[in-house]
Amino acid sequence: MADANANADPSGEGVISKKALKKQQKEAEKAAKKAERQAQKASEADVVEEDDYAKDRYGIPRMVQSHEKPDRKLVKVDTLTSALADQTVWIRARLHTSRGKGKQCFVVLRQQQFTIQGILNVNDTISKAMVKFTCGVSKESIVDVEGTVAVVGQKIESCTQQDVELRIQRFYVISQSLPRLPLQIEDASRPKGDEEEGGQAPTVNQDTRLDNRILDLRTPTNQAIFRLEGGVCQLFRDSLRKRDFVEIHTPKIISAASEGGANVFTVSYFKTNAFLAQSPQLYKQMAISADFNKVFTVGAVFRAEDSNTHRHLTEFVGLDLEMAFDYHYHEVLDVIGGMFNDIFRGLRDLFATEIATVNKQFPAEPFKFLDPPLRLEYLEGVKMLKEAGVEMGEEDDLSTPNEKLLGRLVRAKYDTDFYILDKYPLAVRPFYTMPDPTNPKYSNSYDMFMRGEEILSGAQRIHDPEYLSERAKHHEIDLETIKSYIDSFRFGAPPHGGGGIGMERVCMLYLGLDNIRKTSLFPRDPKRLTP
Ligand code: ATP
Repeated sequence: MADANANADPSGEGVISKKALKKQQKEAEKAAKKAERQAQKASEADVVEEDDYAKDRYGIPRMVQSHEKPDRKLVKVDTLTSALADQTVWIRARLHTSRGKGKQCFVVLRQQQFTIQGILNVNDTISKAMVKFTCGVSKESIVDVEGTVAVVGQKIESCTQQDVELRIQRFYVISQSLPRLPLQIEDASRPKGDEEEGGQAPTVNQDTRLDNRILDLRTPTNQAIFRLEGGVCQLFRDSLRKRDFVEIHTPKIISAASEGGANVFTVSYFKTNAFLAQSPQLYKQMAISADFNKVFTVGAVFRAEDSNTHRHLTEFVGLDLEMAFDYHYHEVLDVIGGMFNDIFRGLRDLFATEIATVNKQFPAEPFKFLDPPLRLEYLEGVKMLKEAGVEMGEEDDLSTPNEKLLGRLVRAKYDTDFYILDKYPLAVRPFYTMPDPTNPKYSNSYDMFMRGEEILSGAQRIHDPEYLSERAKHHEIDLETIKSYIDSFRFGAPPHGGGGIGMERVCMLYLGLDNIRKTSLFPRDPKRLTP
């Protein structure tokens, strides 16, 4: 089979040029066509070759076009254990690897993160031509395999199903992969400097991964990351539903920048322009004015910021919530804190396998949290930083390095990776933030942190339209552009507060990963709009 490792740089650092990649792809397509012709020939030859007694046992069947519904049960690779010894099963899987050896062909078959070894031996039913055909199928092709489950004497360390192998009897190619892969799944799955492989084995750099994301996403680590990320959303929803929140959907095409400022994408909208929502802020608050009482939403948020950092995307998934409260915004903080603990507990208890899988490639300390969560006031945070030698004013915003340092200080003192910082200086918050009633330099606002990085910003919002207009003017916002927002409070609105969370950041920081692109399925950043 063709060497499929061309674009995976052995150092894990370099990337081949686009031109070379194109050339490679052309060659790969040519080779694929050739392989297809050969395979076709081989299966046609079966008809001719009288002596290929296995001719009905392998090949490329006609495309699945829903001609028939055979009464055949496909079983899952992860269910193949010694309990099924001697049973004959059908599986559909990817051909992870294959290796010919004399009259034998060893394959590894993969279904998401689960793998099993398969073996074909030339014998009374398996012909030489069948073994040759199997060895020639491109890696990553999807195959239907019938085999008998056999218990092995020695554990197969390289597969997840270590106690059994499949003695293959039938082998059909359902969908072929190009023979030349731009990256190897094994390389993309390997920890950097993997000791077990002598510290020199190739890994794949981030751009190559993201350029070929569908292959990259097939690694066990990515399968685990995005299953866990789905869990974050599910647990967010479950926790808030349990607390009587209503899920809403807010418009993403809007007529005015929701948060003011320049970081908004403009799109053409018939004869005029519109903007992509930087957050559902105004709409979730309007839902409160409309008496939904407690609302949340999960949806795309757009930021036209040229921030090329490990934690900024231009499109991310916002987990937003807003609720009316009775007397004090700490009622909201209690709900959000409890909701985060539900998420952390749920991830720990329901996704232990996924966490362990990710940790194998990207080791990280288990995520620690307290019940109830730790809550500090901004000034206490500033004091801790000053004691650690940082020079800053009491109303200065926290820089990213100071946020991280504070995270480390908090962990050392309180043994938690999650905490709430309450009562931010008013000057560093948006216009709709309710000022502190006792000290107008501060506000009823908060951020929340995981492993020292911000994952939520929130506050009590101003629900009095006159006060809101005054604060907007102070921030030099054109009142005309937010008229419907301000007007929505003119028919009476309850006191309320909430927050906005970045889903990818929660997932990245929970798992202790180093880059938000690892937790975005198809990341969008200032330099990447494809695939
Ligand atoms: P930062 O200071 O980190 O740029 P921000 O103060 O602009 O964030 P908010 O506008 O308050 O963030 O958004 C609320 C949450 O949304 C943040 O805490 C973070 O989790 C997430 N978030 C904000 N901007 C981005 C981004 N560009 N990419 C990914 N997530 C983001």
